Amino acid sequence: MRLDKFLCETTDLTRSLAKKAMHREEVSVDGEVVKNPATQVDAQSRVQWLGQSLELVGLRYVMFHKPSGVECTAKRGLYPLVTDLIGLPKVERLKVVGRLDVDTTGLVLLSDDGQWSHRITSPRRHCAKVYRVQLAEALTGAAAERAVVAFGEGILLDGEDKPTRPAELVLTSPREARLTLHEGKYHQVKRMFAAIGNHVETLHRESIGDIALDPTLAPGEWRELSDEEIDAF
Ligand code: URA
Repeated sequence: MRLDKFLCETTDLTRSLAKKAMHREEVSVDGEVVKNPATQVDAQSRVQWLGQSLELVGLRYVMFHKPSGVECTAKRGLYPLVTDLIGLPKVERLKVVGRLDVDTTGLVLLSDDGQWSHRITSPRRHCAKVYRVQLAEALTGAAAERAVVAFGEGILLDGEDKPTRPAELVLTSPREARLTLHEGKYHQVKRMFAAIGNHVETLHRESIGDIALDPTLAPGEWRELSDEEIDAF
């Protein structure tokens, strides 16, 4: 890659500031001062700026235990952003893979590997996402059976032209359920329960595909994914 791009990737310099730094002879490659921004470098090159060695960071993969009151979007609004709580350099480059609502808790994956993220979110792959749901109204007896069948067959949500994909609903108590979805429509879990006359009080994502939220992570904590977790997609 070009030296000016390398500097932008590894520091907070913009392209034009990187060029100025080179012009001021602050940048060296393998011990030689280099002023030409088009000079080609790679991961093996020993690049220094003001005597400090710079290293390219590889692709990054993170699991975050999202608390309520934190926003998954990149746009700053009322709430702190997920990326505000992840202490990694250049954290703004990490993109959330499948957002949660601001009041939803649980597993959020982030990465700067667009192809990996696409394998998780692509509508063609039907990646399973498991949610734990607390309901406002008890769901028991025949109504519970009807809900299991309706979610299993798919329901037409307001404003959609196709029914939801078959989803698995398991009631773990009268007001608690585990729901597995294979798609990710806007506010999908809340809309599905609203469609059967109920209301989601709390919502928590437990897993995405084979990656489950690490039980040792408290809300607000994060860790990098293991190789095995990355290879799951
Ligand atoms: N479905 C919802 O309604 N909200 C979420 O945050 C995730 C899935």
